[in-house]
Amino acid sequence: MIPYGRQHITEDDIASVVEVLRSDFLTQGQTVPAFESAVAAYTGAKHAIAANSATSCLHMACMALDVGPGDMVWTAPNSFVASANCALYCGADVDFVDIDPDSFCMSADALAAKLAATNTPPKVVIPVHFSGHSCDMKRIHALSKQYGFRIIEDASHCIGARYDGKKIGSCAYADIAVFSFHPVKIITTGEGGMCMTNDDGLAVALSRLRSHGITRDTEHMRGASDGPWYYQQIALGYNYRITDIQCALGLSQMTKLDAFIAKRRALAGRYHALFQASGLPIRLPTGQSLEDSSWHLYVVRFPEAAGVTRRAAFEALREAGIGVNVHYIPIHVQPFYKARGFKQGDFPNAETYYSEAISIPLYPDITHEQQDYIVATIKALYDQ
Ligand SMILES: *Cc1c(COP(=O)(O)O)cnc(C)c1O
Repeated sequence: MIPYGRQHITEDDIASVVEVLRSDFLTQGQTVPAFESAVAAYTGAKHAIAANSATSCLHMACMALDVGPGDMVWTAPNSFVASANCALYCGADVDFVDIDPDSFCMSADALAAKLAATNTPPKVVIPVHFSGHSCDMKRIHALSKQYGFRIIEDASHCIGARYDGKKIGSCAYADIAVFSFHPVKIITTGEGGMCMTNDDGLAVALSRLRSHGITRDTEHMRGASDGPWYYQQIALGYNYRITDIQCALGLSQMTKLDAFIAKRRALAGRYHALFQASGLPIRLPTGQSLEDSSWHLYVVRFPEAAGVTRRAAFEALREAGIGVNVHYIPIHVQPFYKARGFKQGDFPNAETYYSEAISIPLYPDITHEQQDYIVATIKALYDQ
């Protein structure tokens, strides 16, 4: 089976991990801050706080922005459930803003309309940069100033992507941005994530939340320190720490990030060209930037009116050994969210998109022969 996404691990990645295994510290050593510094330097953000997953990072980001009971968080329905769950972990409510039908990202128009129609703007908006294509952050940022909400970018798909001449994760238009290092994402630490921020106070809060709400910094303690052994718990935090073993892999992967992105962009461009030449009645992700996106996913849409249903295409591709997937089942139609009052029809662009979408394989090591095979298999669907 050709997978839809796959990590790229080489001997030097393995050697980096082994080196940490032979060292004194498997966790809370120097490799975690080294990885954080590398990602901060790469993106241009002032601070980086690594954790054991992007899900943990989204939770910590909401907590650092004081999201709690009575607060409202808005995100996009076309995302992984973690983008919405983080608000509920904090006891807040969640609502959604429909997507733009061409970029599959949160629509800034829909956000503006929803803000204009409510008396209670959200405390936080979580735009999701679908597949590594940035949302319209300038406009969302302008709306945040007008309506007084904070911004967490779910940048899980897009370390290495650009927006407006800057790296995503620079937080030029957000309070916090979150990356994921799950193996199907752009670089991997096995499991892992990172919060980026330019705000000194948020950085302190995030690193404290990562480790039980404990501080060892006398400046942040209540009253005097008892001595050099002393620490204080001053907030309720978690153990969301990532290990040095994982960060050794992340640090090694960072040296290849630009090469991974260049390959993904070239492979996406090659899919565009092959499909355009084929003249098939499928819809290509040409609304996403070829130059700036990190191309985490390549989504092809199969409009039912063109004669091949999404389901038929999906089954035929899997049958042919092609590990296609679907990103995403809209969050609001998950049974858990339906039980909270959402229903089919609430966010029609996300629902229509979902009904047609298939993510076809895209990762740095996919070969041209495999791409040709995938395109030929899709062509054959329409030849019958
Ligand atoms: C993968 C992903 C997450 C969760 O990442 P983990 O590191 O697996 O916790 C959150 N949001 C989006 C959009 C994702 O794709």
